[in-house]
Amino acid sequence: MPQPIRSVAKLVRPMVRSLHAYVPGEQPKVRGLIKLNTNENPYPPAPAVLRAVRKAADARLRLYPNPTSSALREKLARLHGCQPSNVFIGNGSDEVLACLIRVFVEPASSVPARKENRATVQYLWPCYSLYPVLAETHGALPRPVPLGADFSLPTVSALRKGRAWRFDAALSLVTTPNAPSGRGYSRVELEALCEAQRGPLVLDEAYVDFAREHALDLALRHPHVVVTRTFSKSYSLCFQRVGYCVAHADVVEALDKVRDSYNVNGLGQVAAEATLDCLPYYRRNFARVIRTRERLRRELGGIGWEVLPSDTNFLLVRPSGPSAQEWLGLLRDHKILVRWFSTPQLAPYLRITVGTDADADALLRAVGMIRRRAS
Ligand SMILES: *Cc1c(COP(=O)(O)O)cnc(C)c1O
Repeated sequence: MPQPIRSVAKLVRPMVRSLHAYVPGEQPKVRGLIKLNTNENPYPPAPAVLRAVRKAADARLRLYPNPTSSALREKLARLHGCQPSNVFIGNGSDEVLACLIRVFVEPASSVPARKENRATVQYLWPCYSLYPVLAETHGALPRPVPLGADFSLPTVSALRKGRAWRFDAALSLVTTPNAPSGRGYSRVELEALCEAQRGPLVLDEAYVDFAREHALDLALRHPHVVVTRTFSKSYSLCFQRVGYCVAHADVVEALDKVRDSYNVNGLGQVAAEATLDCLPYYRRNFARVIRTRERLRRELGGIGWEVLPSDTNFLLVRPSGPSAQEWLGLLRDHKILVRWFSTPQLAPYLRITVGTDADADALLRAVGMIRRRAS
């Protein structure tokens, strides 16, 4: 008789057992809660997008979706002035990032120590906190290199002098505009980095629709540069999980080999395609979010909070009085949920998603009440 298996956990690979999983923002179901913690768009998808999804939800759900999201690739190619062969669609840009690592990065166990650059996933830190998780999951070597103290992009000469940045890393990632700081980077400074970088460079433009500048054309001019985008944040479509990247056709071809066979669900494709027919609706929403963001920035600045400039749909703020962690709890008591990160560099700050003007009013009212009570 074989022995019964007592601990299946011990059969899990040690790398996975010790993995630090990504921590998503909470999605609590509390009535009346104002959710300013996960950078979702406060405005709903365009009515025509909701109609398209409803219309597609019928007996056809039994069929597999288009395996290559080809119609969506064609529409995105027209939007960006490139070929469909330059566009790759993923189950959210999270999947696009995971596929990029699979395409470019060797697991550390398969390369000798002197060639560790081939297994290195490098990123300017702080940034989107999924990158190290994806690198570790792949068995690659995560390599955070600090941004400037004010979250600025280090110049190429500063990166050369600092020696920490590897110009030939297997994959390098820049969140631009930066999350969680909100800081935007100019196309000119990004291009200087692209020109100096020898290995593949990903510009993660998840928030770029709220920014003054984008750098998408760099992916079409430089074969080693990839720009990732998502329908989640600016196009109010987190629920549907559709992201994409623009890249050299050879990179897209490689990405198509390593993705799941039906990686983008059918209703997601329908919703994303319909979204691209309603761009004026979304552009109005970008403008509204930006207006609310600037008002919130002025008003929170006016009560003495340090508010970093933002090119995104959130603000990184350093509150006065109680600590940022205490503010998280105090605001929660007023049914307002914001985000706090415990890492030392970010611990003095709160990250606040820009909602509607009514959300901003509620936040400012709560902040005012909490401050009066504390004084
Ligand atoms: C939200 C976010 C993503 C992921 O977007 P999905 O398309 O929803 O997977 C990628 N990068 C950054 C910086 C983000 O904030």
